[in-house]
Amino acid sequence: MIESICSDESAENVPRLVLLEATRRVLDEARRSILSPSGPLPEASTLEHSALAMEVAREVEGAMKMGLRKVINATGVVLHTNIGRSPLPRSALDAVESACGGYCNLEYRLDDGVRGTRQEHLEPLLCALTGAGGAMVVNNNAAAVLLVLRTLARGREVIVSRGQLIEIGGSFRLPDIMHESGATLVEVGTTNRTRIEDYRNAIGPNTALIMKIHQSNFRIVGYSEDVSLRELVAVGKQQFIPVVEDLGSGSLVDLAPSGLTGEHTARQSLDGGADLVTFSGDKLLGGPQAGLIVGSIEYVDAVRKHPLTRALRVGKMTVAALEATLREYLDPESARESVPALKMLSEPESSVRRRARRLKRRIDSSGAAGVTCRLTDEVSRAGGGSLPTAEIPTCCLAVTHSGLSAPDLEKLLRGSDPAVLPRVKDDTVLLDMRTVSDDEVAVLAGIIASIDQ
Ligand SMILES: *Cc1c(COP(=O)(O)O)cnc(C)c1O
Repeated sequence: MIESICSDESAENVPRLVLLEATRRVLDEARRSILSPSGPLPEASTLEHSALAMEVAREVEGAMKMGLRKVINATGVVLHTNIGRSPLPRSALDAVESACGGYCNLEYRLDDGVRGTRQEHLEPLLCALTGAGGAMVVNNNAAAVLLVLRTLARGREVIVSRGQLIEIGGSFRLPDIMHESGATLVEVGTTNRTRIEDYRNAIGPNTALIMKIHQSNFRIVGYSEDVSLRELVAVGKQQFIPVVEDLGSGSLVDLAPSGLTGEHTARQSLDGGADLVTFSGDKLLGGPQAGLIVGSIEYVDAVRKHPLTRALRVGKMTVAALEATLREYLDPESARESVPALKMLSEPESSVRRRARRLKRRIDSSGAAGVTCRLTDEVSRAGGGSLPTAEIPTCCLAVTHSGLSAPDLEKLLRGSDPAVLPRVKDDTVLLDMRTVSDDEVAVLAGIIASIDQ
């Protein structure tokens, strides 16, 4: 029965377990609907063999698809956490394949034939790129912050400005991480104004650290005052208290030439005197998810020796992808081309517009019934808590369909294969071409042309 419903030849490739589970789910649901004390009895036709088999086939089809699927990002948010933040550079994908398809020297020194560490592949590169004395990598930046606080401030106090007690989407709340680390948060200043005296007055015998946190996803504008890293470092030095900066995004190149200001590079932060700096691997760096800790060798060594380090360590896929991504930055100019996140952020609007025109031509010539589209000027966002106020000029394709409302069209695109995530504004579906790559244009055009209502 099922085989006759799963019409294509793939039916025989359906694992027994999948078929059993799907059948069980459908029959359970049918039973539930019959036994439900409230509501009408289900239509008899929905309980016929053929109808149930059809349901099972649908379930099977869903279960046979990968849960993790490709998405075309037409939102214009470059570092979108919900869809995986940064796409990896080609070299990183190749490195993962080469290192992880078989064995690799993850913790083995091929020269001497002795045991090595996974950090050895990354530390020299990070030190060269940031000017740090030491560096190490953990699972993500939240883990990096936790580990640094736990190592250097457990049972002691950490001074933070009230204006920097951030929450990042996905439940990273600095006060919570601080609490979990065993450190005590000492808040100074007010939400909009913190002065250097506030820090000075808060320092006591139990102060372990002064911490500066990048505000990431918001800006306080207007009547506000913040203390510079240099001032904090000067106070820290006087009192022998280390200063840690959580950069969040932590770019490795200056983005100002692309018109994007407001993000420090990790090197700037270390040059400014921070003892340790933490940042993410998959925000402006454009690599895999990771938490990078760079700074003076004595503090990095202390962090390295903490037992929690073992629990937060990165896997070989991360080491491979991150090493390859970092190597791209050895030539910063070529990194702007080869690291997709950087390329998308710095691509001139005129070039985005050409891609939008190409998509429009393809859609127009496909003769798709009911579909109309036009180019429109818009702004893209960096996302990922980076450059929160930056408005990056972009070009979108506004798509409408005579038979569909904007939410319905959005839903249809979301359900396509690959899925397409547009942005909906003023009841119009917008495809922001800044985050759509050249080789996705044809696929995207095909998806829109095949909308059939
Ligand atoms: C994003 C961010 C984090 C969390 O980093 P993950 O890599 O997502 O764990 C921590 N601090 C700041 C300032 C951030 O912007």
